[in-house]
Amino acid sequence: MTTLDVHDPCTGELVGSVPIGTTEQVDQAVEAACRAAPSWARTSPADRAALLKEAGRRLREEVDTLAELQSREGGKPLGDSRGGVLAGLGALEQYAELGPLHRGHALQGGWLSTDVMSWEPRGVCVVVTPWNDPVAIALQAIAAALVVGDTVVFKPSERTPLSGQRLAEVLGEVLPPDVLQVLHGGGRTGAPLAAHPDVDVVYFVGSSETARSIAAGCARSGAHAVLEGGGKDPCLVDTGVDPVWAAGQVALGAFANAGQICTSVERIYVHEQLAPAFLDALVAEAGERVLGCWDGPATTMGPMVDRRQRAVVDRQVRGALAAGAELLAGGEVPDGPGAFYPPTVLTGCTEDMAIMSQETFGPVAAVQVVGSFDAALHCASRSAYGLAATVLSADMGHVQRAVRELPVGTVKVNAVFGGAPGGAAHPGRGSGQGLGYGPELLDELSRVKVVHWEPAPTG
Ligand code: NAD
Repeated sequence: MTTLDVHDPCTGELVGSVPIGTTEQVDQAVEAACRAAPSWARTSPADRAALLKEAGRRLREEVDTLAELQSREGGKPLGDSRGGVLAGLGALEQYAELGPLHRGHALQGGWLSTDVMSWEPRGVCVVVTPWNDPVAIALQAIAAALVVGDTVVFKPSERTPLSGQRLAEVLGEVLPPDVLQVLHGGGRTGAPLAAHPDVDVVYFVGSSETARSIAAGCARSGAHAVLEGGGKDPCLVDTGVDPVWAAGQVALGAFANAGQICTSVERIYVHEQLAPAFLDALVAEAGERVLGCWDGPATTMGPMVDRRQRAVVDRQVRGALAAGAELLAGGEVPDGPGAFYPPTVLTGCTEDMAIMSQETFGPVAAVQVVGSFDAALHCASRSAYGLAATVLSADMGHVQRAVRELPVGTVKVNAVFGGAPGGAAHPGRGSGQGLGYGPELLDELSRVKVVHWEPAPTG
């Protein structure tokens, strides 16, 4: 059996190994999930929710273990990692409450004729997840699928399989056999799994490129696809705001989790009146980040997940510099072990540079100075992605225009992160399709059955 080795991105040391799922095992897992599906579907929503709550209680006892595992395999500073695990647990608990309340509609067509729309489980749900927030993303998806009555075959990222494995083991302690299974590996395991003809729904979070290939497989198999892909999120910095506050927001958006968040700030369009003070403050923000190992007490920014991802970032930064961008901070791959990359600030970026058009997924604030809010809106709207955008402005008219005109699924006003826990998100353009989070995810993972009721004629 071939195994997948996982290395600590701080030190390069081996953290652990998992077996890689073969095509044969993919078939076996889907077959087992199909067999388990009818009985799980007939388990009452309240009973399914009770099992999830019990799993949640057991996971609460494992928060520190899971957080450490997630840090060891992905490099997240321990405090952030713990926050991610708790966010995933919070989502599980929310879905356990919401599942039994997931209700349909009725429509009265006549005195005695009624249309009833009720939700049913779709059947077998494949959950494929990325490495950048592995526990939170996987847990919320698995919980939503299970509580609506789907059985799940879960494939965590090949870069962070150990936390996924542990999650599945803890949930497996309370669930009936084969209701949740886990398989490991990269695209060679994920592709046949997501395209399997007996799968009913694929819940995917990851890059847009993989989302497109999964969409093609689902088009052939007929499975419903919920695809949460990548982004190239812009941040519009308007004149009239405090430049130091704006720089703090942008730095948070660009450098949190070493820039490895789907909704990281990746393109910054700053008004020319604000630009000098804003750039000074942004460079100061970059200088305040303490780059270090996930367990370092002073660490505020960990490494990239691995050197492969760091090479993508380095290539884009070098390309931008060669094309005329100016480096204000960072931009150099440090010597030594691990996959560290410093917080980097570039200005003079233009849309022909990869750093302004392709997802970077690293700690880079790429700035373009613009002459007006109109110009910022125009540039920000030109993207193949449509995940999210931030507008920092005290002008209500500008904010309203940004909300209406930006072709993205989520607009964040005056805060780069935040939003309600349990809030939904609907990516646009190349960033995916379907409501991947929030109560609406229960709809996506269920199927509507419509029943037309009429009275039989009396004899
Ligand atoms: P990725 O697309 O390389 O991999 C994601 C998952 O898909 C992994 O489990 C991988 O093994 C699997 N996979 C790879 N090729 C496959 C194939 N052909 N068929 C089926 N499965 C396949 O992405 P990644 O590098 O793990 O994650 C980073 C990406 O995830 C970034 O683009 C980021 O923006 C995105 N992301 C999006 C969201 C969101 O909610 N929109 C959240 C987090 C991360």
